[in-house]
Amino acid sequence: MTFQALELSPALLKALEKEQYTTPTPIQAQAIPPALAGRDLLGIAQTGTGKTAAFALPVLQNLAQRSQPVSRRSRRVIRALILTPTRELALQIHTSFQSYGLFTPLRAHVIYGGVSQKPQEMALRNGVDILVATPGRLKDLMNQGLVDLSHIEILTLDEADRMLDMGFIHDVRHIIGCTPRKRQTLFFSATMPPDIVTLSRDLLQDPVRIAITPDKPTVEKIVQSLYHVDKASKRDLLRYLLQDPHIDSALVFTRTKHGADRVARELNRHNIQALAIHGNKSQQARQKALQQFKDRTVRVLVATDIAARGLDIEELSHVVNFDLPEVPETYIHRIGRTGRAGLAGEAFSFCDADELKLLKDIERLCGRSIKKIDHPYPFTPHVYENKENKELLPRRSGSRPVQRNRTKRSDHPAHRDRNRIQPLA
Ligand code: AMP
Repeated sequence: MTFQALELSPALLKALEKEQYTTPTPIQAQAIPPALAGRDLLGIAQTGTGKTAAFALPVLQNLAQRSQPVSRRSRRVIRALILTPTRELALQIHTSFQSYGLFTPLRAHVIYGGVSQKPQEMALRNGVDILVATPGRLKDLMNQGLVDLSHIEILTLDEADRMLDMGFIHDVRHIIGCTPRKRQTLFFSATMPPDIVTLSRDLLQDPVRIAITPDKPTVEKIVQSLYHVDKASKRDLLRYLLQDPHIDSALVFTRTKHGADRVARELNRHNIQALAIHGNKSQQARQKALQQFKDRTVRVLVATDIAARGLDIEELSHVVNFDLPEVPETYIHRIGRTGRAGLAGEAFSFCDADELKLLKDIERLCGRSIKKIDHPYPFTPHVYENKENKELLPRRSGSRPVQRNRTKRSDHPAHRDRNRIQPLA
């Protein structure tokens, strides 16, 4: 399959040649023909599958080929809107529109929060054909009367599940309510929880459904290892693993923003250059951290899922799941950040006593168990034998061990094991 076979215009083919894309990815091959024909799409796929081009190319071609509804003398109106959850994604999508649309007369612009709105206002006043936006800032600008969505011909929702996770549902519905009913809608989501199914049903008319199985070929190339470890020893284990000089760049995932800060601080204290990236950081700080990580001035980037989703970092060698994700599909998204473009990658996953259920869900989704690795900070199974019925009772984190027949603490196997551990120098 070639891009020519997808009946893309010469202007787009020239841009793709410049990008050195030779073969459409599966989502591109499946999405581009119906989208060019004006159909609504429901794409179940995540970043890394080539989904940006899957919607950007038809948007560009459809807009360029259709005559403009306003006279040529009047200024440009926004004819395509792409809603995406994070600033990073918005910037990446905008860059893609600029690259793919290089030889078209269409103008794309991006708006997102956390920065001054003045330059965005100016660009909007100058006229834009394609607007890429995060919902919060877009709604602000709409409320100020600076954005008119009444000429939208194509609406794209990117990472719809993430937008809902981030609490954007009301903004998203409000924004969509301001677009014409008669429009083409391209809807992309990595997962399809019930609220996303409802939203897609409300927005799409007789859509073509395309599901790209979560990066399976890529994920299978990634060497995945599992480290059972106590919550309190995770940071030591991370430092221990990072002693390996082969790990030249590692993206470390934590569940919380504070967790990300704590891990980065701890690594820096031990002379391992690390930066944290999450929603509490300013846009500038996040861009700077990402740039330093890409330049390899910083070896470790510690991130929350929301901050990391959509980061396009080439040649990332290692992903570390410092905390296991709550949603098993997120595991696939995370480890899919490595092993890109045919490169091999490695993913380390830490699992403490409270995460065993999450691990089970992940292994069920992947259809196999992750290889367990021995290490100097072994998991001390927080199980206490009930002498009466030999029942094993797991301990909840932050609470006292569940035990009916108390053993003296120093005699306890968990305690003895802990004393045996040799901390890092
Ligand atoms: P995306 O899923 O849209 O974020 O794309 C992931 C990466 O794949 C980006 O770096 C794109 O530039 C790249 N890409 C997208 N489509 C192709 C293609 N057909 N051939 C080669 N690389 C591509």
